[in-house]
Amino acid sequence: MTDFEGLVAVVTGGASGIGLATATLLSSRGATAVALDLHPDVPDPLVGIRADVSDDASVQAAVDEVVQRFGRLDVVVNNAGIGAQGDISANSDEEWLKVLNVNVLGITRVSRAALPHLRRSPAAAIVNTGSIAAWAGLPQRALYSATKGAVHALTLAMAADHVREGIRVNAVAPGTADTPWVGRLLDSAPDPAAERAALNARQPHGRLVSADEVAGAIAYLASPLSGSTAGTVLAVDGGMHGLRLRPQ
Ligand code: NAD
Repeated sequence: MTDFEGLVAVVTGGASGIGLATATLLSSRGATAVALDLHPDVPDPLVGIRADVSDDASVQAAVDEVVQRFGRLDVVVNNAGIGAQGDISANSDEEWLKVLNVNVLGITRVSRAALPHLRRSPAAAIVNTGSIAAWAGLPQRALYSATKGAVHALTLAMAADHVREGIRVNAVAPGTADTPWVGRLLDSAPDPAAERAALNARQPHGRLVSADEVAGAIAYLASPLSGSTAGTVLAVDGGMHGLRLRPQ
């Protein structure tokens, strides 16, 4: 893979799961990788900066700090996200606005703060983390799925607006990935081991997607190797979407 030597990347939600795997991979390929996270405890050589993507002042301050400390910003990975369960009646308006505020407006806030710096980069890229939930019609995931559908649509709109100024925007759509988030859900089941085995069996390739596999797709979309790719949502799901299979 093309290296990221000399480039600066920010990864929201970069202290756990897919974000941590992505920051680690970009760093191993030469980037200064900065995790913007509510809980920014990350191992060296990653850099952690506290930021809440649902708060505009916090985002602006964090992006300003990145550019002040490292002099530039080339790659933005908008990955921070939170979940919600239930049908449309399960969540109050306040809960809908809270999840939208993180999963969708979090992307617009960080990207807006980053744009002036990305315009100066010869290798500018934004990668958003969507989900196959946007496509799959998952039961009991109305709010979460709606936010991820918005992430996919926003990715196309952002790509259209910025590709001519040299900023490529793409997204990944992970299937069920083995991260602390999913670990927490499994741990809340009566028999976590049986639940995990059943979840593995439901995947087309018989296992959960790894965080490293999603990180690899993000790194590809952030690198010049994908220099002619914009407005694409790349599924990383064992074939669930491409094969038109349905999560059960
Ligand atoms: P995770 O819970 O392991 O990590 C999420 C990170 O985001 C945490 O470090 C958390 O502190 C941070 N975060 C949450 N709210 C934040 C905020 N307001 N500001 C800054 N940081 C915040 O989750 P994960 O499984 O790695 O998920 C990462 C992304 O991948 C999310 O957008 C999620 O929707 C998406 N995704 C996950 C899966 C899956 O199966 N794990 C599948 C599809 C999509």
